[in-house]
Amino acid sequence: MVVGEIAEQVDLLIAGGGPGGYAAAIRGAQLGRSVLLVDRDGETGLGGACLHVGCIPSKSLIEVADTIEELKHWRKAGLSVQGTRFELSEWQERRKTVVDGLASGIRQLLRNAGVTVLAGELRLTRPDRAVVETATGQAQFFDFEHLVLATGSRASALRDLPRDGVHVLDSTDALNLDVLPASVVVVGGGYIGVELGTAFSKLGVQVTIVEAEQRLLPAIDENLVRPVSARLSELGASILTHSEVIGFDGETVKVSTPQGETGVSADKVVVAVGRTPNTDDIGLDLAGIVTLATGLLDVAPNRSLTNKIAAIGDITPGPALAHKATAEALVAVAAQTGQQVRFDPLAIPVVIFSDPQIASAGLSQAEAQAQGLDATATIVPLSTSGRAALAGGRSGSMQMVVDRLTRVVVGVHIVGPVASELIAEGVVAIEMGATAQDLASCIRPHPTFSEQFSEVAHLAEGFPVNVMEARRGKSA
Ligand code: NAD
Repeated sequence: MVVGEIAEQVDLLIAGGGPGGYAAAIRGAQLGRSVLLVDRDGETGLGGACLHVGCIPSKSLIEVADTIEELKHWRKAGLSVQGTRFELSEWQERRKTVVDGLASGIRQLLRNAGVTVLAGELRLTRPDRAVVETATGQAQFFDFEHLVLATGSRASALRDLPRDGVHVLDSTDALNLDVLPASVVVVGGGYIGVELGTAFSKLGVQVTIVEAEQRLLPAIDENLVRPVSARLSELGASILTHSEVIGFDGETVKVSTPQGETGVSADKVVVAVGRTPNTDDIGLDLAGIVTLATGLLDVAPNRSLTNKIAAIGDITPGPALAHKATAEALVAVAAQTGQQVRFDPLAIPVVIFSDPQIASAGLSQAEAQAQGLDATATIVPLSTSGRAALAGGRSGSMQMVVDRLTRVVVGVHIVGPVASELIAEGVVAIEMGATAQDLASCIRPHPTFSEQFSEVAHLAEGFPVNVMEARRGKSA
């Protein structure tokens, strides 16, 4: 202990004000805890990367790009719109209004709950003590009864292509641009590469996506990704797979491809090669906590690391998604308040705001079989949907994975319009242990995309209404 170090007692301390941290703070207050939340940016940081530089701004840009593209699509139905113009600087104003509004909503929620918010960097100094350093260099020590670490992640960097914020950007820089570049090379064809690449393409930017693996979105089922790759190509984007960027001189990006080295001219390079957990500079060693080789924290099912410290969100194993962090927060705080709980979801939905959208929940057929289930996979193409025909016959499909023995639905995988919304029904079905028959007997409104659930469930049960034998998707 540093001589003269005086520590304040705090009941529940939260590190990080993102979707995990602020939810933990609110739940803690609801459970009668006295809560102090520390975020590097204080109240202005509430909402975290998701609200300020991630999910919300990117989805806003994607919506604008989709709207412009939709207008083109409806030309064939007689729509004529004169003078469509898009100013990125004006979009930035709108983005700021939306983000500020949501951040102030979180501020209000925390104030109402009686949570105190402090600006500063939190580091552990021992298993029950943390120091918070403020921007002015002052240090405040806290002895905590419990601590929830929700410090999130940052964009991973490439050693040979360091970010300069001008020519070499990360996704935050890319979303902060005021003027659209004429051409962009996106390094990494994962979530961000595909989402940003699609939006930029729709806004008229010449996009090249360079992906190290053999295809885009290598972690996602190939059948779901195929329509997305096709659409990107249709939009004029170039996709270089099995390739790596080896240099950039400010004008030309040097790419190593299976066919040899090639040059791609680009105004900007956006690096989107994954995220690094923020666990390296928070004093974990002083609390006796060891990270995994990935930098992630090996939490117990109730998210605890010690009897005083829990961790949630992007610093724990599993997908780095806001909704996972929020769900973990509620478990972690309940456990620290004495409840017997565990974070054990059957389905954490994964959604990619590509074109068409991809959404997935639960097990793939292969994963189910690996768990010892005799699982079938039933697919209906979107062409069976009247609603899809109304929207111009979009490409896509819905797949349902069912345990043959119990008929319980264990996975739902969608590619198509509004997949991001539809997947919630799949999540409920899986979590509630619904059978294919349960889903088949539910009446869904017509004409909507949700009717695909009826169709795929009827087909899984062997009695499809709108699918002819010859047009059946794979049902194995
Ligand atoms: P990612 O892990 O989804 O994709 C990174 C891609 O980069 C991978 O396909 C990988 O093979 C490739 N790659 C790695 N090194 C490379 C190299 N040197 N050259 C070329 N390709 C390389 O990561 P991301 O796209 O940066 O997104 C980060 C995380 O943010 C995601 O995993 C996700 O959790 C989250 N996110 C979620 C959403 C959403 O929910 N819709 C959207 C954006 C981001």
